[in-house]
Amino acid sequence: MTEAGQESDVLARNDEGPEMRILVRNDLCQGHAQCNAQAPEIYPLDADGFIDVPTDTPVLPGQEAAARLGAGACPERALQVG
Ligand code: SF4
Repeated sequence: MTEAGQESDVLARNDEGPEMRILVRNDLCQGHAQCNAQAPEIYPLDADGFIDVPTDTPVLPGQEAAARLGAGACPERALQVG
């Protein structure tokens, strides 16, 4: 394979790399709002104060650290990112 071919393979992998996703266990959420306190742009709450994010939501590029912070703050372990 040529050098140019190898480079395009790397670029393709980067473009299609595995994105981080948020897994939500609504059955565990108790409405502590700690996720929202850490990262309100990623973890909105509903009118009753419970997490209002569909499970398997992709994390936007650049928001990975905030997503981890918010998920780690949940005392019920209702949020997983990966
Ligand atoms: S911190 Fe956990 S329990 Fe509290 S609202 Fe967020 S997901 Fe629900």
